[in-house]
Amino acid sequence: MSDAPPSGNARPTREEAEQAVRTLLSWAGDNPAREGLQDTPARVARAYEEFFEGYEVEPHDLLKRTFSEVEGYDEIVLLRDIRFESHCEHHLAPIIGKAHVAYLPRNRVVGISKLARVVDAYARRLQIQERMTAQIANTINDVLEPHGVAVIIESAHECMTTRGVHRPGVSMVTSTMLGVFRENVQTRQELMAMLNRPAVSGI
Ligand SMILES: [Zn+2]
Repeated sequence: MSDAPPSGNARPTREEAEQAVRTLLSWAGDNPAREGLQDTPARVARAYEEFFEGYEVEPHDLLKRTFSEVEGYDEIVLLRDIRFESHCEHHLAPIIGKAHVAYLPRNRVVGISKLARVVDAYARRLQIQERMTAQIANTINDVLEPHGVAVIIESAHECMTTRGVHRPGVSMVTSTMLGVFRENVQTRQELMAMLNRPAVSGI
């Protein structure tokens, strides 16, 4: 399955997007022509560009530059507590959470900021958390070909807290484990110990 956004659907114009927002404002029961709402369609269109800029990014390309001079480093690399903002594809409601991304390198490592950018590239799309977790793990696995990849995501879904069942304080946790993290209990336990370690203060 390709991660690429669907092509063939001609992108609507900005004016069409703003008109769609006016329709939703009317649907909500308000008057889009009143002063406070006049600039709202334009603001929403700009906000959408930011929320969904992941469609403009090819996540595999973010990982192409790697470093091989790592003095034989062959232990887990973990980037913890990567905050992200996404939107659920069912309600367009925010998903706010943290991702933990780990891999066990095979000769090559990647700049750690790139791992966070891969998280953003997938978060800034319409998502479900299960798929986002797998996409991040599979992309790192495909490009770096490490011994293993682990991605754990915990988040709050505003479609659950502000509507529907109205359950604030509920978090959803998903994980994808590949390679040694899946096959080797000891490696997985080592990862869990790293995740549970208290954060270093002052950084
Ligand atoms: Zn939802």
